[in-house]
Amino acid sequence: MPELEQALAEVAAEMTERSDRGAVATYIPQLGKVDPKKFGIAAVTNDGRLILAGNAEEPFSIQSVSKVFTLTLALGKVGDALWQRVGREPSGNPFNSIVQLEHENGIPRNPFINAGAIVVSDILLAGHQPREAIGEILRFVQFLADDDTIIIDREVAASERATGYRNFALANYMKSFGNLHHEPELALGVYFHHCAIAMSCRQLAMAGRFLANGGRNPATGHSVVSTERARRIGALMLTCGHYDGSGDFAFRVGIPGKSGVGGGILGIVPGVASLAVWSPGLNENGNSKLGSERLRSSRG
Ligand code: GLU
Repeated sequence: MPELEQALAEVAAEMTERSDRGAVATYIPQLGKVDPKKFGIAAVTNDGRLILAGNAEEPFSIQSVSKVFTLTLALGKVGDALWQRVGREPSGNPFNSIVQLEHENGIPRNPFINAGAIVVSDILLAGHQPREAIGEILRFVQFLADDDTIIIDREVAASERATGYRNFALANYMKSFGNLHHEPELALGVYFHHCAIAMSCRQLAMAGRFLANGGRNPATGHSVVSTERARRIGALMLTCGHYDGSGDFAFRVGIPGKSGVGGGILGIVPGVASLAVWSPGLNENGNSKLGSERLRSSRG
């Protein structure tokens, strides 16, 4: 077995045995039901090798990892004007903090905390109905992964809406500052649905290829974003991609990464490979416990 295949197979075997796996998110029942023993990992190299191990083909709720794709799409639509409505600084606060938003007059710190991602959803609405914007996001992710079977889990989306009081608070608050252009309900409809996209590690690693390859799909040569934009998205992932644990992830792992409360992490090794890891148990900052550990060790 070639070296990389063997390394990932060993990682998956070792991780499946671990007993200290963190706690699965329970804020909606659909996430609470996921088996904490799952562990999957996938790597797609820029020269086209796809390596899978463990539960790498099993779809999970990508949650906040989706914010990388919505940011990419929104930057494509409005360009740098986006930065008038969303900042680019790490938050140093929990992902759903409202206090910081008050201090900063309704301008969220960065596009990866909830408030920032809700503004990005508002930008993607652009006067359309939520279902059109949601369809566009899903098609974009399917295009990036070269996989039309990727779906949105409607039950997860409905549950996010039913329990999303804090996200409603954030959206209403930003609306009061004039930083949402549509009704909060509509922007949140888009937000809850993109968080509910279900993908496997394989699909996620495939979707991240353009970021590992200077903005271009390495298989087709097709340009998704400019090299400069790919670098900037990577910089935001590095500094803001892990909630309140972003500094620690950057310090220990040192690559751009974005995590979600479903236990997935998309990691980018620029110029080399796109990686996805999934282990549903979370650490104290809401990041996949074994997933972040694994990415750390893979960096030596
Ligand atoms: N849908 C989740 C929320 O808004 C996102 C959680 C996450 O950060 O992955 O609470």
